[in-house]
Amino acid sequence: MNYPCGIIKDLLPLYYDGVCSPESSQAVKEHLAHCPQCRASLEALKVGQEPLPQPDEEEKKAASFRSLKKKLRKKQIQIGVICVALAVVCMLLVSTVLKNTVRMVEYKDNIQVTMEKEGLVSQLEGTLWYTCSSVTLETQEGKCLFFGFTDTAWDDLITGDQTYCKYTLCPADKGADQIEKVYYYTGDCADLSRLSQTQLAQEMENAVLLWTK
Ligand SMILES: [Zn+2]
Repeated sequence: MNYPCGIIKDLLPLYYDGVCSPESSQAVKEHLAHCPQCRASLEALKVGQEPLPQPDEEEKKAASFRSLKKKLRKKQIQIGVICVALAVVCMLLVSTVLKNTVRMVEYKDNIQVTMEKEGLVSQLEGTLWYTCSSVTLETQEGKCLFFGFTDTAWDDLITGDQTYCKYTLCPADKGADQIEKVYYYTGDCADLSRLSQTQLAQEMENAVLLWTK
């Protein structure tokens, strides 16, 4: 015989606990076989009957979770600090290497030499920061000045608005008027002073004559 859902629902807790009479148990089973609503009620009963964690256990869990969170945060901060320190060290290393990568600037027509009031002046128009090295030597063609611009790989990176470099190669009061010729030289100017006159003459062929008295 089929009972209404209301009666079955009343019986479900007893049925679930297994304390129903065999007749009631049989009736519930039969009803459940064709009533999805009551089956759902039985499922809900099972879920609801699951033992809830004890309050102090819950509190313990929360506390251990909090301390874990704290530890993680501490770790995160440590890792962050180490990362920043490593990044700074890397940047310093890279900048040192780049600053020591000195390159001669090949001659281009943006390099000029002029005689001005203050003396012999070299000018370079470009977008990098350049340094200028020069040497004045006695040659077979008289007193000649050799100069060259250098830049570093670092300059490439930190290039500002520098578009014009002007260097006084030889001041007027330091004998600029005695210089016969000015050459742009892409080798090491300091090396030139160690060369014999013949070797120097050869180097002068590779240099670019920019100014003649
Ligand atoms: Zn039912």
